Amino acid sequence: MRGHLIVDVPLIAAAVSLAPVYGLAPLAWITLAATGIHTWGVVNPRSSLYMPVWWRLPKGSDGVALTFDDGPHPERTPAVLDLLAKHGQKATFFLIGENVRRHPALVRRIVDEGHAVGLHSDTHSWWFNCWPPPKLRRDLERCAASISDATGRAAPTLFRPPVGLKNPMVGFVTGRLGLRTVTWSCRALDTGSATVEQVTTRLANGLKPRAILGMHDGAEPDKPRPGTLCVDALARLLPILRERGLTSRALCATQRGIDVG
Ligand SMILES: [Zn+2]
Repeated sequence: MRGHLIVDVPLIAAAVSLAPVYGLAPLAWITLAATGIHTWGVVNPRSSLYMPVWWRLPKGSDGVALTFDDGPHPERTPAVLDLLAKHGQKATFFLIGENVRRHPALVRRIVDEGHAVGLHSDTHSWWFNCWPPPKLRRDLERCAASISDATGRAAPTLFRPPVGLKNPMVGFVTGRLGLRTVTWSCRALDTGSATVEQVTTRLANGLKPRAILGMHDGAEPDKPRPGTLCVDALARLLPILRERGLTSRALCATQRGIDVG
């Protein structure tokens, strides 16, 4: 609720005190400003206004973190794992609970090969950000239990919000569950009509020490997305990673935030 207290309370107080003197114009401007700040807090992957987020690796880290969302996927996830193994890199996969229940063996393979897994909600609903806390909690706990069942290990403590949206209710629940919310410093935008050259260039531009790169190996459970854009871009990106002397490692939660293992 921290963000609401910081943004809304002073703005409402200002609007109430100015309205009798200046009419409704200040109220309109203050409402517009509040809407803009609120939107920034919800949408911007680097904003910790409504909940703490980690969008790059901590100071002192010279590595990077490749991350993959929406999996596991029966074709693309194995192809991504093969490429990572070939180049000796580790990554983090933010998984959808429904996809985990469909492909548990793939989740086991991800962790057996030394990569990290995190929660990306149970069904990747576009309404996730609008749900009340009890429903959010049930969703995340179901996703965590499915991953834990598949791996035989403790439930993950890393979380990436569906569509990257954040708000005080999501922050309240993730705080209660002890989750670390990880966004990104560079997003591949690899789910639309971009070409492999465009996606690779975007990722290469964001490839610098402490970067967290966001890609998609999977797809939402009810929206299969054909194609190998993520895999093809990764195949081009991994040699660039090596040329720049960078190493990708799996993310892990720490007492104070995140790091790479
Ligand atoms: Zn997603």
